[in-house]
Amino acid sequence: MFNTLIANSMPYMPKAFVGFFAKRYVAGATPEDAFSMTQALNSEGAMGTIDLLGEFTDDINKAKQTVEMYKLVLDNIKTKNLDTNISIKPTAFGILLNQETSTKYMTEVINYAYGKGIFVRIDMENHPYTDYTIDLYLTLSKEMPKSCGTVLQACLKRTQDDIKHITASTEQANIRLCKGIYKEPDEIAYNNRKKVQENFLECLELLFQKKAYVGIATHDDVLINGAMELIKKYKLEKHEYEFQMLLGVRSELRKRLLAEGHRLRIYTPFGEDWLPYSIRRLKENPAIVGSAIKGFLTC
Ligand code: FAD
Repeated sequence: MFNTLIANSMPYMPKAFVGFFAKRYVAGATPEDAFSMTQALNSEGAMGTIDLLGEFTDDINKAKQTVEMYKLVLDNIKTKNLDTNISIKPTAFGILLNQETSTKYMTEVINYAYGKGIFVRIDMENHPYTDYTIDLYLTLSKEMPKSCGTVLQACLKRTQDDIKHITASTEQANIRLCKGIYKEPDEIAYNNRKKVQENFLECLELLFQKKAYVGIATHDDVLINGAMELIKKYKLEKHEYEFQMLLGVRSELRKRLLAEGHRLRIYTPFGEDWLPYSIRRLKENPAIVGSAIKGFLTC
């Protein structure tokens, strides 16, 4: 109850206050912050995926700046020899203006990355963009083989059908599987924790059966344990899948997965527009803010 209250009031809290708790989830405001964070992760044995914050833009100039900033990031990944790829979002490239704009700009970034041999993950946003994102992934991975992958969300009822469609349409699908962060309507989504967990493991098994390369993106022990069983069942080698986690979440799990020799990639966001992302992350775990407020009120 207290935590729900905290979660709902987060957008109205002072930026400096949210910033205090949000620091753990973002590398910093500048690309240099993302590079030094990636270097630190690499030295621990983890890989990265760098994300420039700033989504849902309807400003064409901002979309163009996003293209330029990603090119700078890609140049630096190469020159600094960082073990990381990048993650990009359609709404940061102007899809709110029109699809042609975001397709043009995302293609430009993926083409630039392809020239440097760097993989691009197209993140999955809320349901109005699901078809668009899958279609763009399939088109670009045909034109530029193995240049990019996308994300599927276990909360969506359509996801098993999407897996069948994607794996029938491309040689080796490259999919990040996650629960899904967006609040979606009951008609199209499971809004029940247990059902999402069940669907996650069913989707993961289907992806393994279809020989997709999967980024298993979760911090949930039920899903990590379930994934380990499926990895054993399908006798997968360590290079045939990877785990993925968010920066600032469950560092003890990160250490354990690395110690066990699994490939592990950390989502590493940076940028001036850190507030909406941080609020989303804090809402997933309002207990972090809640316990600090409780401590403050009782002292
Ligand atoms: P949860 O049940 O939410 O978390 C399990 C445990 O992890 C919690 O009990 C808690 O201990 C810890 N934990 C989880 N979140 C936090 C937090 N914010 N702060 C502190 N502790 C926490 N969603 C999309 O819709 N589209 C995407 O493209 C996308 N990309 C992602 C990429 C990566 C690498 C990851 C890891 C997640 C991504 N997500 C994306 C978000 C995802 O859908 C979930 O919302 C998020 O991962 C939380 O789900 P969970 O499986 O970790 O389970």
